[in-house]
This record gives sequence, structure tokens and C-alpha cells, in this order.
Amino acid sequence: MRSIAIVGGGQAGLPVAFGLLAKGYQVTVVTNRTPDEIRQGKVMSSQCMFHDALEVERGLGINDWEDICPPVEGIGFAVPHPEKAGERAVQWSAPLEKVAQATDQRIKMPVWLEQLEQRGATVRYQDVGVAELEELAASNDLVLLAGGKGEIVKLLERDASRSPYDKPQRALALTYIHGLEPTPNYSRVSFNFIPGVGEYFVFPTYTHSGACDVMVFEGMLGGPMDCWNNVNTPQEHLATSLNILNTFLPWEAERARKVELTDAGGILAGRFAPTVRKPVLTLPSGRMVLGIGDAVTTNDPITGQGSNNAAKCAKVYLDSILERGEQPFTREWMEQTFETYWDYARLVVRWTNSMLAGPAPHVLQVMGAAQTLPSLAAELANNFNHPPNNFPWWDDAQAAEQFIAQHQSRVAQAA
Ligand SMILES: Cc1cc2nc3c(=O)[nH]c(=O)nc-3n(C[C@H](O)[C@H](O)[C@H](O)COP(=O)(O)OP(=O)(O)OC[C@H]3O[C@@H](n4cnc5c(N)ncnc54)[C@H](O)[C@@H]3O)c2cc1C
Repeated sequence: MRSIAIVGGGQAGLPVAFGLLAKGYQVTVVTNRTPDEIRQGKVMSSQCMFHDALEVERGLGINDWEDICPPVEGIGFAVPHPEKAGERAVQWSAPLEKVAQATDQRIKMPVWLEQLEQRGATVRYQDVGVAELEELAASNDLVLLAGGKGEIVKLLERDASRSPYDKPQRALALTYIHGLEPTPNYSRVSFNFIPGVGEYFVFPTYTHSGACDVMVFEGMLGGPMDCWNNVNTPQEHLATSLNILNTFLPWEAERARKVELTDAGGILAGRFAPTVRKPVLTLPSGRMVLGIGDAVTTNDPITGQGSNNAAKCAKVYLDSILERGEQPFTREWMEQTFETYWDYARLVVRWTNSMLAGPAPHVLQVMGAAQTLPSLAAELANNFNHPPNNFPWWDDAQAAEQFIAQHQSRVAQAA
């Protein structure tokens, strides 16, 4: 049976490992953090996964937290009023047809690594460099590089034609909390767009201490939300989080009056440049390695798609490996496998990158129209599950007008 090595034990690599093991492949996973290091470390993501991505995990039987992770049942959107302090210029929310869920990766990845070993995979804990990639490529039929944002993925060439940014676009921070007041009627990702300052969103998740919420801060560089550099302790991190809410989003601050950190590791601050990389790395020996997940498509978290992309990428690659049967994993096959995924991911990347640039006037018009058109709001909310559905109107003002008109006529017909 064929042998496949996967470098990196995250959301992209591990589902492929499970899928291959189930089909009798020999699987080796090499990753640089042990289960205990991950469990005891800092949070890595906010990882809200929508229905289609969750289906990938269900299909592989690795949805262990489905019954305990709180559901995310909708999407809310708000923009502060530019003149009336404390009021919202735009405000709507809509339920998701099928719930989303966010299980802390500190819980998920260690269990998956341990389960893989129990099911017969070889799991090694070491930092992989070129020498180790060479060794893996020489002794396996295929090596997948699933190293996320690790240094090693920089060996894959940046694809300038698909990467409009060469620098980080937001100062990012995560704050995991207990004690947040729930939203009325249904739980949701409450997304706040603060023009000229950045974005804030918050939603239920599941961590070591049970159900909680995760605050995500996306500060425009050099602006007032780019404020994490001199934050030294977890308590200072929480205080900085609350200060942002008090300053810009009083309705969110109101919900957060009684919050406390879930744990000292429930915080993160950092920044990275959204980057698409060429999928194939040629090693000095001439052997090749194929990138997967964030290694090839790193998105800013502003649209919450990274884990979703990683799961969907895993499914495309798994199917492609299985379909290949006993044929060799050539460069052509590798590039084609990535392009099959890119066919989906390119619009997710485009959507995400244009959010970073600031929504176009016609996009803001659509967002505003959602306040009075519930069917439009519902469509926007459910598109988080499949962002390509936001096109063509997302980058075409005329299509946006038609999109609004379609929903207006639905209201008129119903009246
Ligand atoms: C602040 C923040 C918020 C986010 N919020 C969301 C969200 O709400 N929704 C969403 O869908 N996504 C979100 N994401 C993105 C999501 O977490 C990632 O896109 C996803 O985890 C990518 O999976 P991956 O397997 O490609 O990489 P990772 O999950 O990063 O896994 C990479 C693995 O490779 C290992 N590794 C790295 N280098 C080496 C090496 N040299 N040798 C061996 N092993 C190595 C690492 O230890 C790790 O196990 C967020 C990310 C951030 C930073």
C-alpha cells in the first residue's frame, strides 16, 4: 500500500491523515508540537467552522466535539453611527440554515494526533527542515507540507499574481472569555465594522473550561486598535480588549461587563501577510513536496475562513490522492490538485482581501439594505458557508443593485 507523509498536525493535514488511514494507506505525520504542548499552550485561532467544513469532519468520523461545542446559529452585522455616539448606523442579524461550531484547536488537535497514532499512523514530534523533507520524500510516495504559517512553508514560492498584499493588513488579537451576555433569540457571530479603525467580532466557542466566547480584534495598522505591542500580561490583554469595546462599541461593551479570561493561554496577538503560494516545492534532490492549507493559502481571519478552507482543501486533496490509485504523484498531478481547490478558494481569497481594503460603496449599500430585507440578510449570513455565492455582486455595482432589487421584489410579492 502507498505511503504518505504529512508535515504539520493542524486543520489541513490531520483530516487527510484520517482519510488515508481509513483506506489502508501507510501514514506518517511529523509535527513540531506534542499534544501536551498544544493543550498547555496559547490559543491559535478562533476557528469558526460553517456547515460544509463541519461536514468534512463528519464524513471522516472526526467530529468528536459536535455534541458539546455550543452552536453558532446566526450572523449579526453592525456599523457604529458616525455622528451619534453609542448608536448604530447599520444593524441586522439573520439565522444560519445550519449551525456553525468553533472548537478550540488546543482541544481538537491533541486528540486527533493521539487518535491517529492509535489507528496505526506513525506520529513523530520534531521540527522539520529541508533535510527531514528530503528524508520523508525519499521514503514515501507523497509528502504534504501542512505547516500552516510556520517558517518552513516559506520554502514554497509566494505567488505574487495571486497575493495582492506583501505585508500584514491588520493587527490581530484573540481573547477567550467566560461571562459574556448572550445575544437575544439565537447565538451568532456578532460582526462590527468600525470604518477607519478595524473590525471586531465575537461568537461562542468551546475550550478547556467548557463553553465560552472568543473576541476577535482586527485593527487597521497604525490605528487605535493596533494597540497590543506593550501588553504584557493576560490581564492587560483583557483590559485592552474591554477598552476597545468601551471606546468604539458600547453595545458590545455592555455584553462584556462581567467577563473574565477562560485561562492565561486564552489570548493571542500577532499579524501576518495574507499570502498565496505556489503549491509545489522542489527539494535540492529534485524530489517534490505538495503544500496544503495555510501553507498555500493564508487568509486574514477577517472573514473567518482559514479553518473552513483548510478542511475543504483537505477533502479535495484526499479525494485526489485516492483517485490517483497506484499512479505516480507527478508535478502535473500536484498542480492540478491545488488548482481544483483554488477553483473554490480564489473567490474566498478575493472576498477576504477586498474586506481588508474596505468594502466598496455598493457592498456597503447591500449591507445597509439587509436591515430592511430579511431574505437578503439571510443570504449574506449563509454565504459564510460558501463565500463564492457573494459573487458577482461583491465586485460589480450593477449586479449589487440587481441583487437588492431581487430581494425587494420578494418583499413586494409577499405583501
Ligand atoms: C487570530 C486568528 C483567528 C482565526 N480565526 C478563524 C476563524 O474564525 N475561522 C476560521 O475558519 N479560521 C480562522 N483562523 C485560521 C485558521 O486557524 C487556520 O487557517 C487553520 O488553522 C489552518 O490550518 P493548517 O492545518 O493549514 O495550519 P495550522 O493549523 O497552523 O497547522 C500547522 C501545523 O504545522 C506545524 N508546523 C509548523 N511548522 C512546522 C515544522 N517546521 N515542522 C513540523 N511541524 C510544523 C504546527 O505546529 C501546526 O501543527 C484564524 C487564525 C488566526 C491567526
